Amino acid sequence: MSARVLVVDDILPNVKLLEAKLTSEYYEVITATSGQEALEKVETNKPDIILLDVMMPGMDGFEVCSRIKEDPATSHIPVVMVTALTDTEDKVRGLEVGADDFLSKPINDTALMARVRSLVRLKMALDEWRLRENAANQFGVMSESGNMMSEPVEAARILVIEDKEFDREKITQTLSEDLNIVLTAENGIKGVELVAQNDFDIIMVSMNLQNEDGLRLCSHLRSNERSRNLPIVLIADEMDMPRVAHGLEMGAHDYILRPLDKNELMARVRTQIRRKRFQDRLKSTYEISLSMALTDSLTGLYNRRYLEVHVEKLLQQNAQSSKAMAVIMMDIDHFKSVNDTHGHNVGDEVLKIFAERMKDSLRSFDLVARLGGEEFVAILPDVTPERAYMVAERLRRSIADEPIPCAVEGGVLPITTSVGGAVINNGGHTITEILERADKCLYEAKHGGRNCTVFENVGKLDPNMYAQSERPSYDDEEYEQAESAASSEGGESQQAKF
Ligand code: GH3
Ligand code: MG
Ligand code: MG
Repeated sequence: MSARVLVVDDILPNVKLLEAKLTSEYYEVITATSGQEALEKVETNKPDIILLDVMMPGMDGFEVCSRIKEDPATSHIPVVMVTALTDTEDKVRGLEVGADDFLSKPINDTALMARVRSLVRLKMALDEWRLRENAANQFGVMSESGNMMSEPVEAARILVIEDKEFDREKITQTLSEDLNIVLTAENGIKGVELVAQNDFDIIMVSMNLQNEDGLRLCSHLRSNERSRNLPIVLIADEMDMPRVAHGLEMGAHDYILRPLDKNELMARVRTQIRRKRFQDRLKSTYEISLSMALTDSLTGLYNRRYLEVHVEKLLQQNAQSSKAMAVIMMDIDHFKSVNDTHGHNVGDEVLKIFAERMKDSLRSFDLVARLGGEEFVAILPDVTPERAYMVAERLRRSIADEPIPCAVEGGVLPITTSVGGAVINNGGHTITEILERADKCLYEAKHGGRNCTVFENVGKLDPNMYAQSERPSYDDEEYEQAESAASSEGGESQQAKF
């Protein structure tokens, strides 16, 4: 995994030493010899990780770190403070301004590489979500998620797997001060059970369990669906460093060494909570933006943008098969007069119920979208012409046969819709072309008296010929099989869900 590392130190030989070590591991290295230069390089070069000296004349490392972490454009870049200081107070100060870890000089190569690799991996995961969120933002429906440092760090759910009672209690006591809910387990089996029953934000795992290998436990937690993406913090002794390095390689996010320092413990756990919440927020913003971008807010149906992408895919699939696809377009009759007579709100109510009835009359793997205004389109991906005619008539009747309940005198309004359809065989068609074909038939239906269905090459359908099926024919065996196959494949549902 290659990545760009920014090395910052005011003493040139220190810079050169780190540069040589990292270059030999194929990292791309950029350097800076002052705080100011570091901030400029962060801005222009967008490094994946920063190794930052603490003691520098002018702007020191703490100041540089806090500026990087305050800027939404750079707050997600991991910062490792490099220091000769061993005082925990300084460590904690660094962690509080957002540093992700500390390395002491002289730098141990194993610790350096393990740290860099693991933090770069975490950043890449975050980058992926930032990218998607950014793409979703281009639809203009959500604002940016902002700064990682502004995430709340209290009230997380934490699991501690540790058999040393003294450490277990110290951790519980310390982390409870932040209103965290801390559950403990004295061994891995109990820990794994708790993971199955609870939603945790962080898991802490001792590397020195009496009867089991903490690394093996980490590897199990990494492969378990429920804990795969949770931050793991290792608890270890100084002499376990090689195993800790191995743990970081396997995907643990951080570690803390005994004797446990209360403030350091708190700071490291807060960093993990912040990172997790930031990532969760990016993910959910992305999902909400996506759903808002692809669905119509009034009816909850898919919108034209989604329809186009979906149909494009279907057309490609059908190009290689002998399946036929039906396009059925509907437009409410004299809808303008509904608005004019009863007001826009009643018009909206009618549109919602109209959409409900469309959904209820279709199979789960048919698609129905609102093209705009009072125009809707249904796509039936795998049908015979006869079935397409039947469904089109069923859609028309679902509106005409039962007046629509809404806030008008009498409580209901009689509404009708005109329907135009085309059955598309084989490939080589474009979305624009097939919508135009259905639209042309819809136009004929309007001119043929409204409240009727016209199909391409067939003309106006005789309602009496397709009057028999009151509801989707779920008694039809072929129908049922297709439906259960689609739902077990997690196939497309006509109702937008994300
Ligand atoms: P036709 O039978 O020929 O289709 O006549 P129509 O009155 O339905 O057709 P027209 O296209 O002239 O009118 C469509 C109306 O739909 C005009 C517009 O105000 C209304 N409309 C479009 N979008 C909405 C909406 O979201 N809510 C409401 N209430 N009305 C809408
Ligand atoms: Mg209309
Ligand atoms: Mg219209």
